[in-house]
Amino acid sequence: MNPSQSGPRSACRRLDELPFDNRYARLPPHFHTRLAPEPLPAPYLVATSASAAALLGLEPATLASEAFVESFAGNRLLPGSEPLAAVYSGHQFGVWAGQLGDGRAHLLGGVHTADGGYLEIQLKGAGKTPYSRFADGRAVLRSSIREFLCSEAMAALGVPTTRALCVIGSDAPVVRETVETAAVVTRLAPSFLRFGSFQHWAARARPDALRELVAFVIDHDRPELRDTPRPVEALLADVVRRTAALIAHWQAVGFMHGVMNTDNMSILGLTLDYGPFGFMEAYDPGHVCNHSDHEGRYAFDAQPQIGHWNLLALAGALLPLIGAPDVAQGIVDELYPAVFTDTYLRLMRAKLGLACPEDEDEAFIDATLGLLARQRVDYPRFFRALCHVRGTGGTVAAAQEDAPLRDLFFDRGEADAWLARWRARLRREGSDDAERQARQREVNPKYVLRNWMAEAAIRRTVAGDGTELAAVLDAVTHPYDELPEYTRYSTEPPDWAAGITVSCSS
Ligand code: AMP
Ligand code: MG
Repeated sequence: MNPSQSGPRSACRRLDELPFDNRYARLPPHFHTRLAPEPLPAPYLVATSASAAALLGLEPATLASEAFVESFAGNRLLPGSEPLAAVYSGHQFGVWAGQLGDGRAHLLGGVHTADGGYLEIQLKGAGKTPYSRFADGRAVLRSSIREFLCSEAMAALGVPTTRALCVIGSDAPVVRETVETAAVVTRLAPSFLRFGSFQHWAARARPDALRELVAFVIDHDRPELRDTPRPVEALLADVVRRTAALIAHWQAVGFMHGVMNTDNMSILGLTLDYGPFGFMEAYDPGHVCNHSDHEGRYAFDAQPQIGHWNLLALAGALLPLIGAPDVAQGIVDELYPAVFTDTYLRLMRAKLGLACPEDEDEAFIDATLGLLARQRVDYPRFFRALCHVRGTGGTVAAAQEDAPLRDLFFDRGEADAWLARWRARLRREGSDDAERQARQREVNPKYVLRNWMAEAAIRRTVAGDGTELAAVLDAVTHPYDELPEYTRYSTEPPDWAAGITVSCSS
Protein backbone atom coordinates (compact mmCIF):
# COMPACT_ATOMS: atom_id res chain seq x y z
CA MET A 1 0.00 0.00 0.00
CA ASN A 2 1.29 3.42 -0.85
CA PRO A 3 1.42 5.29 2.49
CA SER A 4 1.10 8.67 0.84
CA GLN A 5 -2.32 7.70 -0.52
CA SER A 6 -3.73 5.82 2.44
CA GLY A 7 -5.39 8.24 4.78
CA PRO A 8 -5.49 7.30 8.45
CA ARG A 9 -9.25 6.82 8.38
CA SER A 10 -9.34 4.40 5.50
CA ALA A 11 -6.42 2.43 6.95
CA CYS A 12 -8.42 1.50 10.04
CA ARG A 13 -11.96 0.87 8.98
CA ARG A 14 -14.21 -1.05 11.27
CA LEU A 15 -16.01 -3.97 9.72
CA ASP A 16 -19.39 -2.29 9.73
CA GLU A 17 -17.90 0.85 8.22
CA LEU A 18 -16.80 -0.70 4.94
CA PRO A 19 -18.09 1.87 2.46
CA PHE A 20 -19.86 -0.37 -0.03
CA ASP A 21 -20.35 0.89 -3.56
CA ASN A 22 -21.95 -2.02 -5.37
CA ARG A 23 -21.21 -1.56 -9.04
CA TYR A 24 -22.20 -4.99 -10.19
CA ALA A 25 -25.54 -4.85 -8.39
CA ARG A 26 -26.36 -1.74 -10.41
CA LEU A 27 -26.19 -3.68 -13.69
CA PRO A 28 -29.65 -4.61 -14.99
CA PRO A 29 -31.27 -7.63 -13.33
CA HIS A 30 -30.55 -10.07 -16.18
CA PHE A 31 -26.89 -10.16 -15.06
CA HIS A 32 -27.52 -11.57 -11.60
CA THR A 33 -29.89 -12.90 -8.99
CA ARG A 34 -30.03 -11.15 -5.65
CA LEU A 35 -30.07 -13.53 -2.73
CA ALA A 36 -28.64 -13.87 0.75
CA PRO A 37 -25.99 -16.44 1.62
CA GLU A 38 -27.16 -19.57 3.44
CA PRO A 39 -26.11 -19.54 7.11
CA LEU A 40 -23.17 -21.75 8.04
CA PRO A 41 -23.77 -23.58 11.34
CA ALA A 42 -21.41 -22.80 14.24
CA PRO A 43 -18.74 -21.03 12.18
CA TYR A 44 -15.17 -20.68 13.41
CA LEU A 45 -12.19 -18.75 12.12
CA VAL A 46 -9.66 -20.87 10.23
CA ALA A 47 -7.33 -18.26 8.75
CA THR A 48 -7.03 -14.62 7.79
CA SER A 49 -4.63 -12.78 5.52
CA ALA A 50 -3.44 -9.58 7.16
CA SER A 51 -2.22 -8.18 3.85
CA ALA A 52 -5.55 -8.84 2.13
CA ALA A 53 -7.33 -7.22 5.09
CA ALA A 54 -5.01 -4.23 4.72
CA LEU A 55 -6.18 -3.81 1.12
CA LEU A 56 -9.68 -3.25 2.49
CA GLY A 57 -8.27 -1.02 5.21
CA LEU A 58 -9.75 -3.26 7.90
CA GLU A 59 -8.35 -2.62 11.34
CA PRO A 60 -6.49 -5.70 12.68
CA ALA A 61 -8.68 -5.95 15.81
CA THR A 62 -11.66 -6.61 13.55
CA LEU A 63 -10.20 -9.82 12.17
CA ALA A 64 -10.69 -11.96 15.24
CA SER A 65 -14.10 -10.59 16.19
CA GLU A 66 -17.29 -12.61 16.29
CA ALA A 67 -18.87 -10.16 13.83
CA PHE A 68 -16.04 -10.89 11.38
CA VAL A 69 -16.59 -14.64 11.59
CA GLU A 70 -20.37 -14.31 11.29
CA SER A 71 -20.09 -11.87 8.38
CA PHE A 72 -17.69 -13.95 6.31
CA ALA A 73 -19.52 -17.18 7.12
CA GLY A 74 -22.52 -15.62 5.41
CA ASN A 75 -24.55 -15.52 8.64
CA ARG A 76 -24.69 -11.77 9.05
CA LEU A 77 -25.09 -9.16 6.34
CA LEU A 78 -22.51 -6.41 6.32
CA PRO A 79 -24.22 -3.00 6.27
CA GLY A 80 -24.28 -1.74 2.70
CA SER A 81 -23.73 -5.11 1.06
CA GLU A 82 -26.23 -6.37 -1.54
CA PRO A 83 -25.48 -10.05 -2.04
CA LEU A 84 -26.03 -11.60 -5.42
CA ALA A 85 -24.95 -14.44 -7.67
CA ALA A 86 -23.77 -13.63 -11.20
CA VAL A 87 -24.67 -15.53 -14.35
CA TYR A 88 -22.12 -16.74 -16.89
CA SER A 89 -21.53 -19.60 -19.30
CA GLY A 90 -18.41 -21.21 -20.69
CA HIS A 91 -16.44 -23.93 -22.40
CA GLN A 92 -15.39 -26.70 -20.04
CA PHE A 93 -12.55 -28.93 -21.28
CA GLY A 94 -13.07 -27.57 -24.78
CA VAL A 95 -16.79 -28.31 -24.90
CA TRP A 96 -19.52 -25.69 -24.75
CA ALA A 97 -21.21 -26.19 -21.38
CA GLY A 98 -23.97 -23.58 -21.66
CA GLN A 99 -25.08 -21.68 -18.58
CA LEU A 100 -22.99 -22.07 -15.42
CA GLY A 101 -22.90 -19.03 -13.12
CA ASP A 102 -22.02 -18.48 -9.48
CA GLY A 103 -23.26 -21.83 -8.19
CA ARG A 104 -21.62 -21.34 -4.82
CA ALA A 105 -20.47 -17.75 -4.77
CA HIS A 106 -22.20 -14.71 -3.33
CA LEU A 107 -20.91 -11.31 -4.31
CA LEU A 108 -21.46 -9.03 -1.31
CA GLY A 109 -20.57 -5.85 -3.18
CA GLY A 110 -17.47 -3.74 -3.61
CA VAL A 111 -15.47 -1.14 -1.73
CA HIS A 112 -13.00 1.52 -2.72
CA THR A 113 -9.60 0.76 -1.28
CA ALA A 114 -7.16 2.97 0.52
CA ASP A 115 -4.84 3.05 -2.50
CA GLY A 116 -7.49 4.34 -4.88
CA GLY A 117 -8.48 0.92 -6.20
CA TYR A 118 -11.71 -1.02 -5.92
CA LEU A 119 -12.31 -4.54 -4.65
CA GLU A 120 -15.35 -6.73 -4.82
CA ILE A 121 -15.89 -9.03 -1.87
CA GLN A 122 -17.19 -12.50 -2.64
CA LEU A 123 -18.05 -15.45 -0.42
CA LYS A 124 -17.32 -18.84 -1.99
CA GLY A 125 -19.15 -21.81 -0.52
CA ALA A 126 -21.99 -19.90 1.14
CA GLY A 127 -24.82 -22.02 -0.19
CA LYS A 128 -26.98 -22.69 -3.21
CA THR A 129 -27.94 -20.18 -5.85
CA PRO A 130 -30.12 -20.45 -8.97
CA TYR A 131 -26.91 -21.46 -10.79
CA SER A 132 -25.99 -24.38 -8.54
CA ARG A 133 -27.48 -26.95 -10.92
CA PHE A 134 -27.31 -30.30 -9.06
CA ALA A 135 -24.57 -29.30 -6.63
CA ASP A 136 -24.78 -28.26 -3.00
CA GLY A 137 -23.46 -24.70 -3.09
CA ARG A 138 -20.79 -25.57 -0.57
CA ALA A 139 -17.00 -25.78 -0.57
CA VAL A 140 -15.00 -28.12 1.63
CA LEU A 141 -12.40 -26.95 4.12
CA ARG A 142 -9.62 -28.67 2.16
CA SER A 143 -10.22 -26.80 -1.09
CA SER A 144 -10.93 -23.52 0.72
CA ILE A 145 -7.57 -23.67 2.50
CA ARG A 146 -5.87 -24.46 -0.82
CA GLU A 147 -7.52 -21.50 -2.55
CA PHE A 148 -6.72 -19.20 0.37
CA LEU A 149 -3.04 -20.18 0.54
CA CYS A 150 -2.45 -20.11 -3.19
CA SER A 151 -4.16 -16.74 -3.74
CA GLU A 152 -1.92 -15.14 -1.16
CA ALA A 153 1.17 -17.02 -2.37
CA MET A 154 0.64 -15.92 -5.97
CA ALA A 155 0.18 -12.30 -4.89
CA ALA A 156 3.47 -12.46 -2.99
CA LEU A 157 5.17 -13.94 -6.06
CA GLY A 158 3.96 -10.96 -8.07
CA VAL A 159 1.57 -13.00 -10.24
CA PRO A 160 -1.77 -11.28 -10.99
CA THR A 161 -4.45 -12.97 -8.91
CA THR A 162 -7.67 -12.65 -6.99
CA ARG A 163 -6.94 -12.34 -3.26
CA ALA A 164 -8.25 -14.22 -0.25
CA LEU A 165 -9.25 -12.46 2.97
CA CYS A 166 -10.14 -15.41 5.19
CA VAL A 167 -11.42 -18.93 5.57
CA ILE A 168 -14.29 -19.66 7.93
CA GLY A 169 -14.97 -23.30 8.81
CA SER A 170 -17.88 -25.26 10.24
CA ASP A 171 -18.48 -28.84 11.31
CA ALA A 172 -21.39 -29.07 8.86
CA PRO A 173 -20.80 -32.20 6.75
CA VAL A 174 -20.27 -31.92 3.00
CA VAL A 175 -20.22 -35.04 0.85
CA ARG A 176 -17.50 -35.38 -1.77
CA GLU A 177 -15.56 -38.67 -2.30
CA THR A 178 -15.72 -38.88 1.48
CA VAL A 179 -17.63 -36.82 4.01
CA GLU A 180 -15.73 -33.60 4.70
CA THR A 181 -16.68 -30.35 6.43
CA ALA A 182 -17.85 -27.04 5.00
CA ALA A 183 -15.94 -23.78 4.74
CA VAL A 184 -16.34 -20.38 3.15
CA VAL A 185 -13.42 -18.55 1.58
CA THR A 186 -13.76 -14.81 1.06
CA ARG A 187 -12.19 -13.61 -2.17
CA LEU A 188 -11.32 -10.11 -3.32
CA ALA A 189 -10.86 -8.82 -6.87
CA PRO A 190 -11.63 -5.60 -8.76
CA SER A 191 -14.01 -7.76 -10.81
CA PHE A 192 -14.89 -11.43 -10.98
CA LEU A 193 -16.07 -11.21 -14.60
CA ARG A 194 -14.90 -14.08 -16.75
CA PHE A 195 -14.58 -14.76 -20.47
CA GLY A 196 -17.71 -16.84 -19.91
CA SER A 197 -19.62 -13.79 -18.67
CA PHE A 198 -19.38 -12.44 -22.23
CA GLN A 199 -19.84 -15.80 -23.94
CA HIS A 200 -23.13 -16.09 -22.09
CA TRP A 201 -24.73 -13.18 -23.93
CA ALA A 202 -23.25 -14.06 -27.29
CA ALA A 203 -24.72 -17.56 -26.95
CA ARG A 204 -28.12 -16.04 -26.11
CA ALA A 205 -27.93 -13.68 -29.10
CA ARG A 206 -28.16 -10.65 -26.82
CA PRO A 207 -25.80 -8.02 -28.29
CA ASP A 208 -27.51 -5.42 -26.08
CA ALA A 209 -26.39 -7.22 -22.92
CA LEU A 210 -22.97 -7.84 -24.38
CA ARG A 211 -22.66 -4.12 -25.05
CA GLU A 212 -23.76 -3.30 -21.48
CA LEU A 213 -21.14 -5.63 -20.06
CA VAL A 214 -18.33 -4.27 -22.25
CA ALA A 215 -19.28 -0.71 -21.27
CA PHE A 216 -19.34 -1.78 -17.63
CA VAL A 217 -15.79 -3.16 -17.73
CA ILE A 218 -14.44 -0.20 -19.66
CA ASP A 219 -16.12 2.34 -17.38
CA HIS A 220 -14.96 0.76 -14.15
CA ASP A 221 -11.78 -1.14 -14.88
CA ARG A 222 -10.35 0.27 -18.12
CA PRO A 223 -11.49 3.93 -18.31
CA GLU A 224 -8.44 4.73 -20.45
CA LEU A 225 -10.07 2.76 -23.29
CA ARG A 226 -13.31 4.74 -23.25
CA ASP A 227 -12.22 7.36 -25.76
CA THR A 228 -10.31 5.09 -28.11
CA PRO A 229 -11.71 4.85 -31.66
CA ARG A 230 -12.84 1.22 -31.27
CA PRO A 231 -13.28 0.51 -27.56
CA VAL A 232 -14.46 -3.10 -27.95
CA GLU A 233 -11.38 -4.00 -29.97
CA ALA A 234 -9.25 -2.08 -27.51
CA LEU A 235 -10.76 -4.05 -24.64
CA LEU A 236 -10.15 -7.35 -26.42
CA ALA A 237 -6.53 -6.33 -27.07
CA ASP A 238 -6.17 -5.41 -23.41
CA VAL A 239 -7.47 -8.81 -22.28
CA VAL A 240 -5.18 -10.54 -24.78
CA ARG A 241 -2.13 -8.69 -23.45
CA ARG A 242 -2.96 -9.31 -19.82
CA THR A 243 -3.79 -12.97 -20.35
CA ALA A 244 -0.57 -13.51 -22.32
CA ALA A 245 1.44 -11.87 -19.55
CA LEU A 246 -0.43 -13.86 -16.90
CA ILE A 247 0.28 -17.21 -18.51
CA ALA A 248 3.92 -16.23 -19.11
CA HIS A 249 4.12 -15.65 -15.33
CA TRP A 250 2.55 -19.04 -14.69
CA GLN A 251 5.08 -20.77 -16.93
CA ALA A 252 8.01 -18.93 -15.38
CA VAL A 253 7.00 -19.65 -11.81
CA GLY A 254 5.93 -23.22 -12.66
CA PHE A 255 2.25 -22.77 -11.81
CA MET A 256 -0.37 -25.09 -13.23
CA HIS A 257 -3.96 -23.93 -12.99
CA GLY A 258 -5.53 -27.31 -13.66
CA VAL A 259 -8.92 -26.16 -15.01
CA MET A 260 -8.45 -23.46 -17.62
CA ASN A 261 -12.07 -23.49 -18.71
CA THR A 262 -13.32 -20.21 -20.18
CA ASP A 263 -15.50 -19.67 -17.10
CA ASN A 264 -12.31 -19.65 -15.01
CA MET A 265 -10.53 -17.03 -17.14
CA SER A 266 -10.62 -13.53 -15.65
CA ILE A 267 -11.44 -10.60 -17.91
CA LEU A 268 -8.81 -8.65 -15.95
CA GLY A 269 -6.09 -11.25 -16.53
CA LEU A 270 -6.03 -12.48 -12.92
CA THR A 271 -5.45 -16.03 -11.77
CA LEU A 272 -9.01 -17.06 -10.89
CA ASP A 273 -10.79 -20.08 -9.38
CA TYR A 274 -8.10 -22.11 -7.68
CA GLY A 275 -8.94 -25.78 -7.70
CA PRO A 276 -6.64 -28.69 -8.55
CA PHE A 277 -3.68 -26.35 -9.16
CA GLY A 278 -0.07 -27.32 -8.63
CA PHE A 279 3.44 -25.91 -8.67
CA MET A 280 6.07 -27.62 -10.76
CA GLU A 281 8.42 -29.67 -8.60
CA ALA A 282 10.49 -32.35 -10.43
CA TYR A 283 10.49 -30.67 -13.84
CA ASP A 284 8.13 -32.38 -16.25
CA PRO A 285 6.79 -30.15 -19.01
CA GLY A 286 3.86 -32.47 -19.73
CA HIS A 287 2.77 -32.65 -16.09
CA VAL A 288 -1.01 -32.74 -15.54
CA CYS A 289 -1.78 -31.51 -12.04
CA ASN A 290 -5.53 -32.26 -12.14
CA HIS A 291 -6.16 -35.96 -11.61
CA SER A 292 -9.56 -35.59 -13.32
CA ASP A 293 -7.97 -34.22 -16.55
CA HIS A 294 -7.55 -37.60 -18.24
CA GLU A 295 -6.56 -36.25 -21.64
CA GLY A 296 -4.05 -33.78 -20.25
CA ARG A 297 -5.79 -30.84 -21.89
CA TYR A 298 -4.45 -28.51 -19.19
CA ALA A 299 -0.94 -29.98 -18.92
CA PHE A 300 1.76 -27.49 -17.92
CA ASP A 301 3.19 -27.10 -21.41
CA ALA A 302 -0.30 -26.80 -22.94
CA GLN A 303 -1.24 -23.73 -20.89
CA PRO A 304 0.08 -21.16 -23.38
CA GLN A 305 -1.91 -22.65 -26.30
CA ILE A 306 -4.98 -23.02 -24.11
CA GLY A 307 -4.73 -19.35 -23.25
CA HIS A 308 -4.78 -18.60 -26.98
CA TRP A 309 -7.75 -20.93 -27.54
CA ASN A 310 -9.68 -19.32 -24.71
CA LEU A 311 -9.00 -15.84 -26.07
CA LEU A 312 -10.31 -16.91 -29.48
CA ALA A 313 -13.48 -18.03 -27.70
CA LEU A 314 -13.72 -14.58 -26.12
CA ALA A 315 -13.06 -12.90 -29.48
CA GLY A 316 -15.85 -15.02 -30.94
CA ALA A 317 -18.18 -13.86 -28.20
CA LEU A 318 -17.36 -10.20 -28.90
CA LEU A 319 -17.84 -10.65 -32.64
CA PRO A 320 -21.39 -9.25 -32.64
CA LEU A 321 -19.88 -5.96 -31.43
CA ILE A 322 -16.69 -6.03 -33.50
CA GLY A 323 -18.33 -7.12 -36.74
CA ALA A 324 -15.38 -8.42 -38.72
CA PRO A 325 -14.23 -11.96 -37.80
CA ASP A 326 -10.76 -11.41 -39.25
CA VAL A 327 -10.30 -8.30 -37.08
CA ALA A 328 -11.36 -10.09 -33.89
CA GLN A 329 -9.20 -13.12 -34.61
CA GLY A 330 -6.31 -10.97 -35.81
CA ILE A 331 -6.11 -9.16 -32.48
CA VAL A 332 -5.67 -12.47 -30.69
CA ASP A 333 -3.40 -14.18 -33.23
CA GLU A 334 -1.02 -11.25 -33.54
CA LEU A 335 -0.84 -9.95 -30.00
CA TYR A 336 -0.99 -13.10 -27.96
CA PRO A 337 2.16 -14.92 -29.13
CA ALA A 338 4.15 -11.69 -29.19
CA VAL A 339 3.25 -10.60 -25.67
CA PHE A 340 3.55 -14.11 -24.30
CA THR A 341 7.02 -14.66 -25.76
CA ASP A 342 8.28 -11.21 -24.74
CA THR A 343 7.10 -11.60 -21.17
CA TYR A 344 8.23 -15.19 -20.86
CA LEU A 345 11.73 -14.46 -22.16
CA ARG A 346 12.03 -11.47 -19.85
CA LEU A 347 11.01 -13.52 -16.82
CA MET A 348 13.21 -16.51 -17.70
CA ARG A 349 16.25 -14.32 -18.37
CA ALA A 350 15.75 -12.75 -14.98
CA LYS A 351 15.53 -16.18 -13.36
CA LEU A 352 18.82 -17.12 -15.01
CA GLY A 353 20.43 -13.88 -13.88
CA LEU A 354 20.85 -12.55 -17.43
CA ALA A 355 20.58 -8.78 -17.71
CA CYS A 356 21.44 -8.14 -21.38
CA PRO A 357 19.24 -9.96 -23.92
CA GLU A 358 20.94 -12.04 -26.62
CA ASP A 359 19.39 -13.74 -29.63
CA GLU A 360 20.42 -17.16 -28.41
CA ASP A 361 18.61 -16.79 -25.09
CA GLU A 362 15.52 -18.62 -26.27
CA ALA A 363 17.64 -21.63 -27.28
CA PHE A 364 19.53 -21.47 -24.00
CA ILE A 365 16.31 -21.40 -21.98
CA ASP A 366 14.99 -24.38 -23.97
CA ALA A 367 18.23 -26.27 -23.38
CA THR A 368 18.07 -25.49 -19.67
CA LEU A 369 14.50 -26.75 -19.38
CA GLY A 370 15.35 -29.79 -21.48
CA LEU A 371 18.10 -30.64 -19.06
CA LEU A 372 15.85 -30.16 -16.03
CA ALA A 373 13.27 -32.43 -17.68
CA ARG A 374 15.77 -35.20 -18.53
CA GLN A 375 17.02 -35.27 -14.98
CA ARG A 376 13.70 -34.46 -13.30
CA VAL A 377 15.33 -31.65 -11.34
CA ASP A 378 13.19 -29.78 -8.84
CA TYR A 379 12.26 -26.56 -10.65
CA PRO A 380 12.15 -23.99 -7.81
CA ARG A 381 15.14 -25.49 -6.04
CA PHE A 382 17.27 -25.39 -9.21
CA PHE A 383 16.70 -21.68 -9.72
CA ARG A 384 17.08 -20.84 -6.06
CA ALA A 385 20.34 -22.81 -5.87
CA LEU A 386 21.57 -20.93 -8.94
CA CYS A 387 21.30 -17.68 -6.96
CA HIS A 388 24.16 -18.90 -4.79
CA VAL A 389 26.50 -20.09 -7.52
CA ARG A 390 29.51 -18.04 -8.65
CA GLY A 391 29.76 -16.74 -12.17
CA THR A 392 33.33 -18.00 -12.39
CA GLY A 393 34.14 -21.66 -11.88
CA GLY A 394 37.40 -23.54 -11.54
CA THR A 395 38.28 -22.69 -7.94
CA VAL A 396 37.83 -24.73 -4.79
CA ALA A 397 35.47 -22.12 -3.38
CA ALA A 398 33.37 -22.12 -6.55
CA ALA A 399 33.19 -25.92 -6.53
CA GLN A 400 31.95 -25.83 -2.93
CA GLU A 401 29.26 -23.34 -3.83
CA ASP A 402 28.23 -25.38 -6.88
CA ALA A 403 27.58 -28.44 -4.73
CA PRO A 404 23.95 -27.78 -3.69
CA LEU A 405 23.04 -27.16 -7.34
CA ARG A 406 25.01 -30.15 -8.70
CA ASP A 407 23.41 -32.36 -6.05
CA LEU A 408 20.01 -31.81 -7.68
CA PHE A 409 21.26 -33.76 -10.74
CA PHE A 410 21.93 -37.47 -10.98
CA ASP A 411 24.32 -36.86 -13.91
CA ARG A 412 26.70 -34.25 -12.48
CA GLY A 413 28.63 -34.16 -15.76
CA GLU A 414 25.59 -32.68 -17.51
CA ALA A 415 25.23 -30.16 -14.70
CA ASP A 416 28.87 -29.12 -15.11
CA ALA A 417 28.52 -28.72 -18.87
CA TRP A 418 25.45 -26.55 -18.33
CA LEU A 419 27.24 -24.46 -15.69
CA ALA A 420 30.13 -23.87 -18.10
CA ARG A 421 27.73 -22.63 -20.79
CA TRP A 422 25.88 -20.40 -18.31
CA ARG A 423 29.17 -18.95 -17.02
CA ALA A 424 30.33 -18.19 -20.54
CA ARG A 425 27.04 -16.36 -21.09
CA LEU A 426 27.50 -14.34 -17.87
CA ARG A 427 31.05 -13.42 -18.89
CA ARG A 428 29.82 -12.11 -22.24
CA GLU A 429 27.66 -9.55 -20.47
CA GLY A 430 30.28 -8.71 -17.85
CA SER A 431 27.99 -9.80 -15.05
CA ASP A 432 28.87 -8.80 -11.49
CA ASP A 433 28.30 -11.71 -9.12
CA ALA A 434 26.98 -9.93 -6.02
CA GLU A 435 24.61 -7.77 -8.00
CA ARG A 436 23.44 -10.65 -10.19
CA GLN A 437 22.87 -12.96 -7.21
CA ALA A 438 20.83 -10.32 -5.40
CA ARG A 439 18.69 -9.79 -8.51
CA GLN A 440 18.16 -13.52 -8.90
CA ARG A 441 17.09 -13.94 -5.29
CA GLU A 442 14.27 -11.47 -5.92
CA VAL A 443 12.77 -13.53 -8.72
CA ASN A 444 13.51 -17.13 -7.76
CA PRO A 445 11.33 -18.11 -4.82
CA LYS A 446 12.69 -20.17 -1.99
CA TYR A 447 9.17 -21.08 -0.85
CA VAL A 448 6.39 -22.11 -3.21
CA LEU A 449 3.12 -23.75 -2.20
CA ARG A 450 3.93 -27.38 -2.89
CA ASN A 451 0.93 -29.69 -2.66
CA TRP A 452 2.38 -31.47 0.33
CA MET A 453 2.66 -28.18 2.24
CA ALA A 454 -0.99 -27.37 1.61
CA GLU A 455 -1.85 -30.94 2.57
CA ALA A 456 0.17 -30.77 5.80
CA ALA A 457 -1.59 -27.50 6.70
CA ILE A 458 -4.99 -29.04 5.94
CA ARG A 459 -4.38 -32.20 7.98
CA ARG A 460 -3.22 -30.27 11.02
CA THR A 461 -6.10 -27.80 10.72
CA VAL A 462 -8.60 -30.66 10.55
CA ALA A 463 -6.96 -32.06 13.69
CA GLY A 464 -7.62 -28.73 15.42
CA ASP A 465 -4.12 -27.26 15.18
CA GLY A 466 -3.75 -24.10 13.13
CA THR A 467 -0.01 -23.62 13.55
CA GLU A 468 1.05 -25.41 10.35
CA LEU A 469 -1.40 -23.37 8.26
CA ALA A 470 -0.04 -20.17 9.78
CA ALA A 471 3.53 -21.29 9.09
CA VAL A 472 2.82 -22.23 5.47
CA LEU A 473 1.03 -18.93 4.90
CA ASP A 474 3.96 -17.06 6.40
CA ALA A 475 6.52 -18.91 4.26
CA VAL A 476 4.71 -18.68 0.93
CA THR A 477 3.91 -15.01 1.41
CA HIS A 478 7.64 -14.30 1.93
CA PRO A 479 8.80 -16.39 -1.01
CA TYR A 480 12.07 -14.60 -1.67
CA ASP A 481 13.33 -14.36 1.91
CA GLU A 482 15.74 -16.69 3.69
CA LEU A 483 13.77 -17.98 6.67
CA PRO A 484 15.74 -20.55 8.67
CA GLU A 485 12.63 -21.57 10.63
CA TYR A 486 11.09 -22.84 7.37
CA THR A 487 13.96 -24.97 6.10
CA ARG A 488 11.56 -27.91 5.92
CA TYR A 489 9.64 -26.17 3.12
CA SER A 490 12.68 -25.64 0.89
CA THR A 491 14.40 -29.01 1.18
CA GLU A 492 13.37 -32.56 0.22
CA PRO A 493 9.63 -33.17 0.68
CA PRO A 494 8.61 -35.79 3.26
CA ASP A 495 8.13 -39.36 1.97
CA TRP A 496 4.35 -39.25 2.34
CA ALA A 497 4.19 -36.34 -0.14
CA ALA A 498 4.71 -38.73 -3.09
CA GLY A 499 1.15 -40.08 -2.89
CA ILE A 500 -0.76 -36.79 -3.01
CA THR A 501 -3.16 -36.21 -5.90
CA VAL A 502 -5.65 -33.42 -6.48
CA SER A 503 -8.84 -33.55 -8.51
CA CYS A 504 -11.72 -31.29 -9.51
CA SER A 505 -13.63 -32.30 -6.39
CA SER A 506 -13.84 -29.32 -4.11
P1 AMP B 1 -15.46 -24.82 -11.24
O1 AMP B 1 -15.04 -25.98 -12.07
O2 AMP B 1 -15.18 -24.99 -9.77
O3 AMP B 1 -14.93 -23.54 -11.75
O4 AMP B 1 -17.06 -24.74 -11.31
C1 AMP B 1 -17.79 -24.80 -12.51
C2 AMP B 1 -19.22 -24.44 -12.24
O5 AMP B 1 -19.79 -25.32 -11.29
C3 AMP B 1 -19.45 -23.05 -11.68
O6 AMP B 1 -20.66 -22.58 -12.19
C4 AMP B 1 -19.55 -23.29 -10.20
O7 AMP B 1 -20.27 -22.28 -9.53
C5 AMP B 1 -20.29 -24.62 -10.16
N1 AMP B 1 -20.01 -25.38 -8.95
C6 AMP B 1 -18.88 -26.06 -8.64
N2 AMP B 1 -18.99 -26.66 -7.44
C7 AMP B 1 -20.22 -26.36 -6.97
C8 AMP B 1 -20.95 -26.69 -5.79
N3 AMP B 1 -20.43 -27.44 -4.83
N4 AMP B 1 -22.19 -26.17 -5.66
C9 AMP B 1 -22.74 -25.41 -6.61
N5 AMP B 1 -22.12 -25.08 -7.76
C10 AMP B 1 -20.87 -25.55 -7.94
MG1 MG C 1 -15.06 -21.77 -11.80
